[in-house]
Amino acid sequence: MKKLSDLENLDNILRSSVVVAGGFLGTDSRNLDEIISNDLAELAKAEKTISTLVERMKEITKKAIPAMGNWTNIDKTHETRVEEAKGIITCPWPDSCRYAKRITFVKNTQTGIIVKWTDLNIHLIEQHNFFEGKGSVYRVEPIEVVKAIF
Ligand SMILES: [Zn+2]
Repeated sequence: MKKLSDLENLDNILRSSVVVAGGFLGTDSRNLDEIISNDLAELAKAEKTISTLVERMKEITKKAIPAMGNWTNIDKTHETRVEEAKGIITCPWPDSCRYAKRITFVKNTQTGIIVKWTDLNIHLIEQHNFFEGKGSVYRVEPIEVVKAIF
């Protein structure tokens, strides 16, 4: 078991993780610390906090689930749908939290922008302030997601 406090170890785990193709860091060459602090700065620029963002993401996913894969309206300018795959994905941090492989899509009908996140993304952002590295399949781009869902 790797030590939690060792950020460098975690960086290696995320970079080499086979849980998600390409790992959680994608093609990002920055270290974990830099990725997290840059994304927090981006989020602050967009005038949102982790908790406001996560609260909205959870609210949307909750509304999307009953539509069972179909697009459903959230409000006048947003539609959402979920896609579920079989299986479970585990948080790469030592908490080892497990999540269903569910993807939430959100379309802003005014801008046409579509963003997506997984249940694990919500956990990673909320608990670890981690949006994943650039080039990662499931990276959540802070500014883009804020523009799309608020
Ligand atoms: Zn975790």
